[in-house]
Amino acid sequence: KPVCLIVLGMAGSGKTTFVQRLTVYLHSKKTPPYVINLDPAVHEVPFPANIGIYGLGPNGGIVTSLNLFATRFDQVMKFIEKKQSNHQYVLIDTPGQIEVFTWSASGTIITEALASSFPCVVIYVMDTSRSVNPVTFMSNMLYACSILYKTKLPFIVAMNKTDIIDHSFALEWMQDFEVFQDALNQETSYVSNLTRSMSLVLDEFYTNLRVVGVSAVTGSGLDELFVQVADAAKEYETEYRPEYERLH
Ligand code: GDP
Ligand code: MG
Repeated sequence: KPVCLIVLGMAGSGKTTFVQRLTVYLHSKKTPPYVINLDPAVHEVPFPANIGIYGLGPNGGIVTSLNLFATRFDQVMKFIEKKQSNHQYVLIDTPGQIEVFTWSASGTIITEALASSFPCVVIYVMDTSRSVNPVTFMSNMLYACSILYKTKLPFIVAMNKTDIIDHSFALEWMQDFEVFQDALNQETSYVSNLTRSMSLVLDEFYTNLRVVGVSAVTGSGLDELFVQVADAAKEYETEYRPEYERLH
């Protein structure tokens, strides 16, 4: 069965560019993916999506078109099932505004439909160059954390745009609480007090988190990413799948 990679992240983090880069990469590995585009803002892609949302409505109607798409998702599932022997991976690009997907009924319906039939992995794309401020970094990580708890799916954080800035500073913050505290101490706002206590909570979240530095522009980090994808897909089989079957 193909592994579904659900790509989530803040607007502008690089989801669409990342999905396009993965598509090029997988074509070069002779394992062309099945691509589902749920971002109505995307019109031109180097490899056309197998199924796209943009035919359903104008640009402004993201939620409406996502709802319409969700009501026909059984058909999408049938398409994937029919094609499953041809594809090792299914890539799902999501709307620029992350909350449209993660906090809407349609997004939940689509995610759960996929996860009930196929191994699914969430790839959370982060703009590393815009996370150099410790408070911004933390709010991004809290968002990632909330998505992990909402979907309960195996999770990979893709620290994108490493062509602009290396992600090693972020890794250090995640590995060494003291270093992150030092960075926070440069901040003076009341926010940083809140952040200080929040970062203790996040420490637990970081412990088993898969993190990969990537560049959707240059394609660096993708070999490592697919090592993590294989590991996450294994976690789906051993952790998510049995729990899903227990509940349904
Ligand atoms: P989305 O809203 O998450 O789908 O983000 P897009 O894929 O539309 O990208 C937003 C902006 O970031 C665009 O201008 C991209 O060219 C740029 N971008 C995306 N990935 C990278 C990257 O790896 N490196 C650099 N330098 N820019 C990137
Ligand atoms: Mg996009």
